[in-house]
Amino acid sequence: MIKFLDLQKVNLAHKEEIEERLLKTFRSGWYLLGDEVKNFEQNLSKFIGTRHAIGVANGLDALRLIFRAYIEMGVIQAGDEVIVPANTYIASILAISESGLTPVLVEPDIDTYNIDIERIEKKITPKTKAILIVHLYGRAVWSEKLAELAKKYSLKIVEDNAQAIGASHSPTLPESDGEFSPFGEVRGGLRTGNLGNAAGFSFYPGKNLGALGDGGAVTTNDDELATVVRTLANYGSSKKYVFDYQGINSRLDEIQAAVLDVKLKYIDQENEYRRKIAKRYILEITNPKIILPQMPENEKEHIFHLFVIRTENRDKFQNYLTENGIQTVIHYPIPPHKQACYKEFNNISLPITEKIHKEVLSLPISPVMTEEVKKVITTLNNWK
Ligand SMILES: *Cc1c(COP(=O)(O)O)cnc(C)c1O
Repeated sequence: MIKFLDLQKVNLAHKEEIEERLLKTFRSGWYLLGDEVKNFEQNLSKFIGTRHAIGVANGLDALRLIFRAYIEMGVIQAGDEVIVPANTYIASILAISESGLTPVLVEPDIDTYNIDIERIEKKITPKTKAILIVHLYGRAVWSEKLAELAKKYSLKIVEDNAQAIGASHSPTLPESDGEFSPFGEVRGGLRTGNLGNAAGFSFYPGKNLGALGDGGAVTTNDDELATVVRTLANYGSSKKYVFDYQGINSRLDEIQAAVLDVKLKYIDQENEYRRKIAKRYILEITNPKIILPQMPENEKEHIFHLFVIRTENRDKFQNYLTENGIQTVIHYPIPPHKQACYKEFNNISLPITEKIHKEVLSLPISPVMTEEVKKVITTLNNWK
């Protein structure tokens, strides 16, 4: 059986280093808000190129803390609208509605699966205050048009970078007004997480940079936002037993930070390996019944968190793969607007989003796959 993702193998690839850091943290007697988190935050902000990185409990918290902070700062008010792709993981949308804001769903581009930037402007109203872009499946989404829209309508751009850590893009940034800070350039452009005004990261174990449990982070170049997010995440307290806001408890713990700090050193290398597998899939899967993902012209834009194909007879195809020893996953089977938790959206028509949810299937891809790749390719090509 070829696993969709062999997490044990992924983490055992760094066995010695991780075990050493785990033991050190265990023996230190300090488990929250300590040196491991501080150190990881520093290394993450250096890697992404932002002035700030703040460790939080998970990816959903990272996103909702950004919106909550903007509300506390008076930038966004309860009831305001946030534009978000209709084709995303539910957490992106939950982060908006949970903050008392209204998600406005926009159809994706069928070729990239990311938000169709051309469709954004007609959804902008006087209540629109932000666009939450999602670098879905690991592919960066950005364009000059997006930056122009943000400037024209004074919108914040928040990135859901849960699936795309390490991806980069060459953005044409608007003249610096202190909002878009083009520092931290890497080969291939700016990293996702440093394109907009703030970004949320997830270190859920299955993500490209995965912890041994939950974890998340916020990155930003905005000093005030960073301070408010950090305060909100610690009960609203910036000083012990003094409370500025009615905050929450959302902290990254020392053990997770220690593990993430080890794995962060290898993320570019591991993403490059995923890209290599993706290239082989794209080149060697020749079955006309299968629609493959497109490699962006600038390959650094895609880190292939997921390798997502489409096919008309998806469920039958998935059964065929299971019978042939290949485990696959559907990301995602039911679109957010068709979920029971969003009854208010159930009747809107989003045909591209619905088509994607009906047809997608994610193939195994990981930094520890080797000869399995060949078998996946052969099995896919043999499907009639
Ligand atoms: C995983 C994920 C999240 C949520 O992260 P958690 O750490 O599981 O809370 C948010 N958005 C996207 C796109 C994700 O893939």
